[in-house]
Amino acid sequence: MTLATQLLDWYYENARDLPWRQDKDAYKIWVSEIMLQQTRVEAVKGYYQRWIDRFPTPAVLAEASEQEVLQYWQGLGYYSRARNLLAGVREVCAAYGGEVPEDEQLIRQLPGVGDYTAGAIASIAYNRRVPAVDGNVLRIFSRLFCLESDISKQATKREIAGLLHRHMPDSSPGDFNQALMDLGSMICIPRRPRCQVCPLSNLCEGYAREVQDTLPVRPAKKEPVLVQLAAGLVLQDGKYLVRQRPAKGLLAGMWEFPTVELTGGQAADRCLTAVLWHEFGQEVDVGEEQFHYIHIFSHRKWDISFFSCQWLSGNGVMKEGQWRSLTEFSNMPWAGPHHKVALALAES
Ligand code: SF4
Repeated sequence: MTLATQLLDWYYENARDLPWRQDKDAYKIWVSEIMLQQTRVEAVKGYYQRWIDRFPTPAVLAEASEQEVLQYWQGLGYYSRARNLLAGVREVCAAYGGEVPEDEQLIRQLPGVGDYTAGAIASIAYNRRVPAVDGNVLRIFSRLFCLESDISKQATKREIAGLLHRHMPDSSPGDFNQALMDLGSMICIPRRPRCQVCPLSNLCEGYAREVQDTLPVRPAKKEPVLVQLAAGLVLQDGKYLVRQRPAKGLLAGMWEFPTVELTGGQAADRCLTAVLWHEFGQEVDVGEEQFHYIHIFSHRKWDISFFSCQWLSGNGVMKEGQWRSLTEFSNMPWAGPHHKVALALAES
């Protein structure tokens, strides 16, 4: 039997029952694949269902505001994915009558869509024989063919895409790609692959040479940079002082409480007092730390303390910031740990 036959036989017996597999709607596959980038399947399920209930088609999503879209994405992180998805469906509505195009080259040109996502959509929704190479496939093929080159290198990715294409069947290419996704999440997992129950163990060179645990080869991981932050919770007339982050960069456009980065061991109370006066025009007395969170992004680690601040006067010039009530909090997309604080304040 060929690799494809063995894999597909296993898949038809063991495929995961996932909400986005109910039909072969290209838009739904697109949404699920974008959500699944950097996020676990179990975590995505709830978000996906809420999203599809609210935005069942590209046309409905295209009409939504960015703020609402970010709110539905809140908690998934990497918000540029949501913005790109919105821009992508708007393009699909403007250029393709609301239908995701079948040609993977055209899909690939949509905002935020890379080779992997284009391959997944084209193969699963339209049965096109296109590889979808993600971290799962790189890991599985490194082990299957005992490849010792760094999987972060383009040359290795090209080599694996070539191998994948060669082994891809003419019929059911979408099932083949999905079978690899399932094998990667259930059997050929990152640590301690379950080779004894793997449908491909008789073909696997890494397993035969007992080096499967050492593969794939990756570059050394860099530690995220620690960023010390202090945020002020300023309440005045039943409203909190908040601001929207800049339109570009980390957590772009999300809401936060006034925040300052502390460098070189600066005192949080003095920095907050200064920032709240100079940037927000508010005179405050910084009090006790009320919340403290560590939030890890891919390259940064926020160590953020939230201080309750007593409002004294607001005579300065408000360069930025707005006053928002607790009832408005639930309609605002919040930046990372600020969301936890907003929820806690709204529930208290
Ligand atoms: S035999 Fe082991 S290493 Fe090889 S593909 Fe299967 S699970 Fe992965």
